[in-house]
Formats: sequence, structure tokens, C-alpha cells
Amino acid sequence: CGIVGFAGKEEAAPILLDGLRRLEYRGYDSAGVAVYHPERGLQVIKTKGRIQALADQVEAAGGMPGSIGLGHTRWATHGEPSDVNSHPHMSQNGRIAVVHNGIIENYAEIKEFLQSTGVHFVSQTDTEVVAQLLEYYYDGNILDAVTKVLHRIQGAYALGILCADCPDRLIAARKDSPLILGFGEGFHLMASDVTAVIRHTREVCYLDDGEIAELTPDHCWVYDAYLRPVEKKHHQVDWEI
Ligand code: GLU
Repeated sequence: CGIVGFAGKEEAAPILLDGLRRLEYRGYDSAGVAVYHPERGLQVIKTKGRIQALADQVEAAGGMPGSIGLGHTRWATHGEPSDVNSHPHMSQNGRIAVVHNGIIENYAEIKEFLQSTGVHFVSQTDTEVVAQLLEYYYDGNILDAVTKVLHRIQGAYALGILCADCPDRLIAARKDSPLILGFGEGFHLMASDVTAVIRHTREVCYLDDGEIAELTPDHCWVYDAYLRPVEKKHHQVDWEI
């Protein structure tokens, strides 16, 4: 199970697929990517099975143009390994894409609540409630929606979020599941661990529990759970791959 996210100026898909391959050692049963492109919108390709199968599907689709996106390898905890249960998960109207490692413990109660408001779920995962709940709280400000969701969900999570309304940025959040940020010239990355980013940069920071990050190609902001800015220490990774 692993997460990788890229916000930059070059093609995101090859970087995401390469990052996922470097996280393969963590184990997984499915993989997927979401990439935003101004004309194509938010495009998702995901599949049960190997990353090579995902890469083949991306190629068969004629590639995934766009310079911002998320990738995920899943180790199923809720819902069998299947194409539909693979991440990224989308909100019902396709506006918000979410990747998640960990477990949302109170997902059943949230799912029931959202279903009572008319939300239609397509997967058996705990993760889909995060995408649908984000849409439920979203009123034009994705960061506000993220903080509301984080106050409502219980469990362990590393999250990557991409919203088609503000497609110049990725949102990252974590609690009891690892997530690091990578800093480069004109790009930023998020990943479950440094192996997925050191081909691109050796300057990283480690998100702490309860922190939220906002990444654009040229900026990176980190906040606490109440959106107060946090100063993060940057580290240089000096080991070889
Ligand atoms: N609980 C989520 C699922 O089953 C995420 C699993 C993971 O960490 O990959 O889809």
C-alpha cells in the first residue's frame, strides 16, 4: 500500500507510475492513478493486479496528459480487491478524487448518513466515504471541506486529494500512517516514503499526525488541524537508491 502525488509542470502519469513501482515492496493487490488535464478534466484509471497492468491501461488510453495527479497501490482492508474498489475513489459527481492508505473506522456510520441524504456509493471500501463526505461539505473551499472531514472521520489515514475546481493543487493529510513531502524546482511531491521521490529530489519533510499540506508546482503550505500554518523542517536524504 502506497501513495504518490505530483504537482509540477511536466507529465504527471509517468512520474506517478514510477513512484508506485518504487513502493511495490510494501505489497499491494490493486493500483490506480488520477490525473487532471484542463480539457479532459479529472481522469482516473485503476485496476486490480500489477502496476504493469495499470501502465498498460494508461498506454491503451493514449496516455494521461496533465501535470498534476495522484497514484495509489491498495492493500484491501474493506471490500475485496477489484477494479471498482481500487483507488482513487471519486465523489459522486466526479469532482473530487481521493487516495487513502489506512482504515476509516467509523465509515459505516458515515456511509449510512450520506446514503440517507441520497448519495450513491459504488464501492465497498471505507475510503469512498472520504470522497463523498468531502463533496458533502464542499462549498467552494476544498481545504475547509478537508478539515471538516478530518474532524468527522476516525481511524488511520494517509490521504491524497485532488479537486477539479482547484486543479493547481494537491491536498495531503495524515494520521497514524506515513506521508512525506518532496521539494523540487517547479514541482512538489507527496509519497508514503522517500523511495518514491528521491529520483526527483532529496529535499523532503515528514508530515506529522494531524497535519494537512497543500502542494502546487511552486508552493507548499503545511497547516495543523485548524488550518494554522506550521513551519516544517526540511531534511536532505543522503542515501543511494
Ligand atoms: N482501507 C482502504 C481500502 O481497503 C485502504 C487500504 C490501503 O491502505 O491500501 O481500500
